[in-house]
Amino acid sequence: MNEVAMHVRIANLRNDIVNSVDHVFGDHQRCASYFCAGAKEGEANIIHLLNEHGLYQQTKSLAGNLSRHSRSLLYNVVKNCVNQYNSAALKKRVASINYTKHGSYRALYAAVVLAYN
Ligand SMILES: [Zn+2]
Repeated sequence: MNEVAMHVRIANLRNDIVNSVDHVFGDHQRCASYFCAGAKEGEANIIHLLNEHGLYQQTKSLAGNLSRHSRSLLYNVVKNCVNQYNSAALKKRVASINYTKHGSYRALYAAVVLAYN
C-alpha cells in the first residue's frame, strides 16, 4: 500500500469533493488520474445545463462546504479503523481463554490483526 502523507490526502480529498460536481456532470478536466479515467463513451458534458438553470454555483457551494471537512472526514476514518481494531481485539480477548492459559498475548494479537485484515 502506498503511504501518502496525511496533508496530501486531505488536499486530494478536498479537491476531489470540490471537483465531484464537474465529474458527475461530465466535465473531467480537473479529475485526478487516481479518481477518474476521463469521459465514458457517449458521456456528455452537461455543466452548461446546470448553469442555465442556476444550479451549478449552488452545487459547487455545497461541495465546497463539504470539502472544508476533509481533514475531519479522514481523521474519523482513521479513528474508526482504530476502533474496529480495538473492538476485534476485545472480542478475541474475551474468547481467548486458550491464548491466555499459555501466557501468550502475541498469538492473540496476531489473530486479531488477521481478523481485522
Ligand atoms: Zn472525472
